[in-house]
Amino acid sequence: MNKFHHIADRNNNLGTETAFTVLAKANKLASEGKNVINLGIGQPDFETPEHIVEAGIKALKDGHHGYTQSIGIPQLREAVSNDINRRHKVQVSPDNILIVPGGKVIIFFSAMLMGEKNKEILYPNPGFPIYESAINYSGAKAVPYKLSENKGFSFSAEDILKKINQNTSLIIINSPANPTGGVVPKFELEKLAKGLEKFPNVVLMSDEIYDQFCFGDINFTSMLKFPEIKDRLIILNGWSKTYAMTGWRLGYGIFPKRLYEIAEKLAVNIHSCVNASAQYAALEALTGPQECVKEMNQAFKKRATLMFTKLNEVKGLNCQKPNGAFYCFPNISDTNKNSMEVQNLLLDKIGVATVAGTSFGKYGENYIRLSCANSNDAIEEAISRMKNIF
Ligand code: PLP
Repeated sequence: MNKFHHIADRNNNLGTETAFTVLAKANKLASEGKNVINLGIGQPDFETPEHIVEAGIKALKDGHHGYTQSIGIPQLREAVSNDINRRHKVQVSPDNILIVPGGKVIIFFSAMLMGEKNKEILYPNPGFPIYESAINYSGAKAVPYKLSENKGFSFSAEDILKKINQNTSLIIINSPANPTGGVVPKFELEKLAKGLEKFPNVVLMSDEIYDQFCFGDINFTSMLKFPEIKDRLIILNGWSKTYAMTGWRLGYGIFPKRLYEIAEKLAVNIHSCVNASAQYAALEALTGPQECVKEMNQAFKKRATLMFTKLNEVKGLNCQKPNGAFYCFPNISDTNKNSMEVQNLLLDKIGVATVAGTSFGKYGENYIRLSCANSNDAIEEAISRMKNIF
């Protein structure tokens, strides 16, 4: 390394996603012959449905090898618009839809659009770690709002609204939520939308990537349902979770016109476009049969129920029933260990990969995250290994 290089200071503000570190460690242990059950990474264990894979292959064979429009092929933006209309009964113009390489990109774009020195951005904690990282990178102050177990890991609109001041430029929300499995009820979202009328300069980014994974008593409501904030609402969504397509790197954002124009420029500057064959696969995902979504959803529901029931049989763990996404987030206080100690103990001693709650922010202390994206047998085996460990 050249010690005379000065690397720009803002890079010191970047965080990371510990689930990838755990994944690397789990893979290494497995390659050394250890029997590891991976409940760490948040990706469906299903393969991408066959008809979607075939559409991707066909696109390559049909010669779709070049750049596409930076904003995404028109048919795909049209299909996203129709899908939103079908599921939420809301009209969104394809001109407001930007196809990107992974939903994550929309987090970074939102932070780049709205964050700078002397601005503040509110985000959920515990929450997806990239929110805090992207906010810090933008130069804005990252202001967490706490998600509490005693509120079912939902947020209170009042708590969020109380934190807004004249510097607040953006609020990030996520429901169903990673890592807690919490789902925010409609009345609370309504309160937030109404409350924001008093703060016309604040933009809202709603991360709805788990919108089709709602299996508790609370139904999913998209923020698109509230026209009063339409002109300052960014939506993050995509194919990664719904269609088991994490590795294809596909997602989309919905932006109001002014923000869209800049987001489009960011796309041109950063990635040019999403790879063409992946876009054709995404088109098939939205326009082809939807049974696969229902089937995967049912499987996750069963596994989540199994996982939270079994976790509550382990001395030291107390787990709420998740309402959505595909994670359980048990409270580990009764083990008398902190989250990182429990993460390490489980992986090193019994070969079960989980993620410490603190990887999702400071309010994640006393919790660990387990992903339901594994077979029933693997879930039962992993939790039975925990029986005498604490
Ligand atoms: N938002 C949340 C809450 C997530 O959990 C994830 C992935 O884990 C993403 C966004 C990013 O999804 P993608 O893989 O499409 O970039």
